[in-house]
Amino acid sequence: MKTVVRFAPSPTGNIHIGNARTALINWIYAQQNDGEFILRLDDTDVARSKQEYADNIAVDIRWLGITPSRTQKQSDRFASYAIATQKLKDAGLLYPCYETSDELDRQRKRLAMRGKPPVYDRSALKYSEEELAKFKEEGRNAHWRFLLPNFKDDPHSPTRTEVKWNDLIRGDQIIDLASMSDPVLIREDGTWLYTLPSVVDDIEMGVTHIIRGDDHVTNSGAQIAIFEALGATAPNFGHHNFLTAASGEAFSKRLGSLSLQSLARAGYEPMAVASVATLIGTSGPVEAMPTMAALIERFDVSSVTKSAAKFDEAEVGNLNAKLVHGMAYAQVKSRLEEAGVGGGEAFWNAVKGNIEKVKDASFWWEKVQSATPIVEDEDKDFIAAAAKLLPQEPWDENTWGQLTKALKNETGRKGKGLFMPLRKAITGEAHGPELAVLLPIIGRDKTLDRLT
Ligand code: GLU
Repeated sequence: MKTVVRFAPSPTGNIHIGNARTALINWIYAQQNDGEFILRLDDTDVARSKQEYADNIAVDIRWLGITPSRTQKQSDRFASYAIATQKLKDAGLLYPCYETSDELDRQRKRLAMRGKPPVYDRSALKYSEEELAKFKEEGRNAHWRFLLPNFKDDPHSPTRTEVKWNDLIRGDQIIDLASMSDPVLIREDGTWLYTLPSVVDDIEMGVTHIIRGDDHVTNSGAQIAIFEALGATAPNFGHHNFLTAASGEAFSKRLGSLSLQSLARAGYEPMAVASVATLIGTSGPVEAMPTMAALIERFDVSSVTKSAAKFDEAEVGNLNAKLVHGMAYAQVKSRLEEAGVGGGEAFWNAVKGNIEKVKDASFWWEKVQSATPIVEDEDKDFIAAAAKLLPQEPWDENTWGQLTKALKNETGRKGKGLFMPLRKAITGEAHGPELAVLLPIIGRDKTLDRLT
């Protein structure tokens, strides 16, 4: 059977690094198994879902290197959900409830006082005609709950009912359906929560592996029961750990600073972000993978650990620098040209080891164009001597050697005392790319200007 996975964000905000992790783990798993990756937009919450976010999500995952075979929107599929809803109603598995959230709250508190878990008591199954008439009179609308199969004959006497699966990531999992409330599938306003539409989609789209965050583990127990109630067999599941901010706080779509867009705008390479998002929280090292193919080769879904992993943007910076240091000119040529950076391959090779992001090449290109020389008092004579000994053009990568050799003979200086004053005078910086390469790019006129 062909492997089919899906990434199912709600388009209620821009996606962040934690969502990227879910998307990437699914994508890599699909690639490793010659499978298909569907982008599914969970937009049943019509009021909060926005087209703009849906568009951004598509752009963001492509930026990471993910190309979905198709995109599906839940809002296009209400007819399918209505059929499934009717099927559950006909089977007596979906029942109307009229409690307000205050009433449910009070019920939970009463249970807590008696030391009991906050499991819904199914009192809606016992409404009398009078009560139903009263709700109607009060203008209450029903929300609908799915009757979990956790009892023999009497739904008011649930018994331990184990749902088991072998999780791709967490190994053997057991959820006791008697420990859960019947999930609400339809809100009072008639809209579906994500639970049922997701199962219907997974069935109709032939999803074979549901890989998502471990906040869904319990939910999976209920959803497995819904798959079965609809006459289907649940697919495989994998629940991955969560990423948290350095503060330990969970990421949310409100944390705009760590949206994928902001990381892209900050100038990080997609593969630096993808490497960190995928490889942290695994038992293996977090290393910069230069290509998606390398990451696919490297990642093993079973290496994902159970505890949450802290995401640190500095780690993306480190991996980004490693990638940039290893990038060939051909990989960056068009980006450099677009940014107005000249100097060709020689310049790129000279500066790439000194920068963390490709866009930082501009900094050194600006230094080639113009720099404010730094000349300490004690170096004034030395710099004047350098100006006099400056070789005639044409210059090449040997020019620096000729100049420093001549200066060494003339002044007796060597090592740092020889190189540093030249570097500071010529580039206006104490550190930077190799001057042997930069010098011919800067050229004699500008160099002489900076030395005099
Ligand atoms: N929209 C759900 C979420 O973002 C999808 C969960 C799933 O993958 O089934 O949590």
